[in-house]
Amino acid sequence: MSEIVDVGTLRSWLIRFAGDVEEHSAELTELDSAIGDADHGSNLTRGMKAVVTALLDDATPASIGPILKQSGMTLVSTVGGASGPLYGTLFLRMAASTGDCDAIGPASLSKAFHAGLEGVMARGKAAAGDKTLLDALIPAVEALDSALAEGQPFEEAIRRAADAAEAGRDATVAMLARKGRASYLGERSVGHQDPGATSLALLFRAAATTMIDGQDGK
Ligand code: ADP
Ligand code: MG
Repeated sequence: MSEIVDVGTLRSWLIRFAGDVEEHSAELTELDSAIGDADHGSNLTRGMKAVVTALLDDATPASIGPILKQSGMTLVSTVGGASGPLYGTLFLRMAASTGDCDAIGPASLSKAFHAGLEGVMARGKAAAGDKTLLDALIPAVEALDSALAEGQPFEEAIRRAADAAEAGRDATVAMLARKGRASYLGERSVGHQDPGATSLALLFRAAATTMIDGQDGK
């Protein structure tokens, strides 16, 4: 129970997220066409396909930090636009936090998400309420943290994180965009769901599904 994310689970998470992004690609692009430039679905699908290709390569690393690092670097180099460097930073900072190991427990996972969040905030200079992917990421990281602090079992904690990411995504509809392309629209950005927050919620739902499955298999 203490080490809940091993290499197999991490790989499954990334592969599942790639599939979910591809499945929701049209929806992500449609959201981005309302308040951006209609490329979020194609950007992230391309990036996550490249992440999976690298994971399936014989030369892929076999431990947690290096896998996260490879994935982050792949996203930075294959995704143009704001989301590539931001998702890339999330994974790169998580990699630096976990280091080179075979498995991590709930506390290390939570610490890694915190490090990732700080990196994304430093890179994008956005804050809570600016109508960005942070509005899904911040509540997810906080929910994971407080559930673990309350002594909830990991399954429940990661499920609450995914629920919080989705609630955060939904809350972006009413927000006025202050960062990224959507901010050019000013008041007209209100009433639309943020594409980046939408993909970020997929990332946490994929984490919950994969990590809970991983637990069941143990
Ligand atoms: P681009 O805006 O360059 O076309 P994408 O369409 O792939 O890139 O991604 C857009 C998403 O990136 C937005 O919906 C928003 O969630 C996120 N985003 C944009 N700028 C920032 C920022 N400064 N900080 C955090 N997230 C941001
Ligand atoms: Mg875009």
